Amino acid sequence: MDFYSRRELQHSNEMEGATKVKLRTGTEVQNVRGTTSCRSFGYDSWKQLYEGAVGNWPDFCPVDYCTRNAIYGAHVRVHFNRGGVWIIPMCAKHNHYTNNDWMTITDSNTIAVYAEKEHT
Ligand SMILES: [Zn+2]
Repeated sequence: MDFYSRRELQHSNEMEGATKVKLRTGTEVQNVRGTTSCRSFGYDSWKQLYEGAVGNWPDFCPVDYCTRNAIYGAHVRVHFNRGGVWIIPMCAKHNHYTNNDWMTITDSNTIAVYAEKEHT
C-alpha cells in the first residue's frame, strides 16, 4: 500500500489564500453532499476555480483506475483531512450524488484544491 506522507503535500497561497495539495496514489477520498456552496456555485464555476488554482484540467478521472473523462469539480473529503472539503476533477459516474463510497486516488498527478471547511 502507498500511504500518504505529510511531506508530500504541496501548499500554495498564490490564489487568494487557496491551498492546493498533491494527493499520493492510494489516498482515499469520498464525495461530500449537501454543502451550501454546491448550490451557490455551478459546476462550471468549480471547474474554473480549480483551473485557476492548478493551472490545468486533467483529461481523466483520477480515482479507481477510471478511464472516463474528468468533467466535474467534485467536492470530496480526504481521509487524512476530514474537516475540509476539497475539489478534484471527476467523471460523472464517480461524482454522482448516490456514490458514497471511499474512492482511491490512482493518478499520481492528482491535485486537490481546498474549497471550504466542512459543514456539519
Ligand atoms: Zn471516474
